[in-house]
Amino acid sequence: MITDKNILIDSHCHINFGGYDEIIEDILKRCAENSIEQVWDIGTDINSSKKSISMAKEHPEIKSFIGIDPEVFVPGSEYFVGFDKNDEWIEQMFNELNNLIEENKDYVIGIGESGLDHYWFKEKSKEDQENSSRLQEQLFKMHLELARKHNLPLSIHSRGAEKLCLEIVRKYNVTGIFHSFTGNYQTAKGILDAGWGLGVNGIVTFKNSNDLREVYKKLLSGRKFESPIDFYNQGIFFETDSPFLAPEGKRGEQNEPYTIALIYDNFIKNLSF
Ligand SMILES: [Zn+2]
Repeated sequence: MITDKNILIDSHCHINFGGYDEIIEDILKRCAENSIEQVWDIGTDINSSKKSISMAKEHPEIKSFIGIDPEVFVPGSEYFVGFDKNDEWIEQMFNELNNLIEENKDYVIGIGESGLDHYWFKEKSKEDQENSSRLQEQLFKMHLELARKHNLPLSIHSRGAEKLCLEIVRKYNVTGIFHSFTGNYQTAKGILDAGWGLGVNGIVTFKNSNDLREVYKKLLSGRKFESPIDFYNQGIFFETDSPFLAPEGKRGEQNEPYTIALIYDNFIKNLSF
């Protein structure tokens, strides 16, 4: 997949979301100018997954990951579908995603976004937490089965639940990237040791992200990196999470895949590689 050692990839973004349709040619031009060869666009539900596939069909630089975001079971989230969804609904999602993969083998290169989101739990009632945990976990396992069935990597959403996600994925013979990783050193090391990757994005460039920079410094000290491919080979992937998380210097703007070049430069400068 990585064809040139000096080529960058945006390993997690959502350009299938509204706001990019009219400027997609400009977005891809800015990618080309910044040596960004591939843009991995991530679905968050069936419709956004379908949209992603249709964009991948039109633009060879775009590759799709398809899946259902765990926030469908987080009350208060714009994606919340309610707690009355059950095994049948999850099975239906499996079948729809499965069909999309089988019909679009040249365009779908991974599963996601999928995982667990416990970030909001502290503000919720005990009952909401229990319902949310149970359904999120069921949905996550469905994606792991899908990944195993098709031998595809996963883009994992693990907000506030990195350790638990790692425990679960260890039980499946699959691999992928913990996108937007913000956990501690121990979990980061566990992820790399298990053969999984870590997603580095604009958060690492923020002024108040010293703890995260320290995690990466400790984790990667003594290793040698000369080009993006050296990072990929050692499980470190760069991502923008566009339209979110624009890096320092661009904060508040609608993020775009070309900022992967800024994130990469900032990361190697800050960590003195
Ligand atoms: Zn995302």
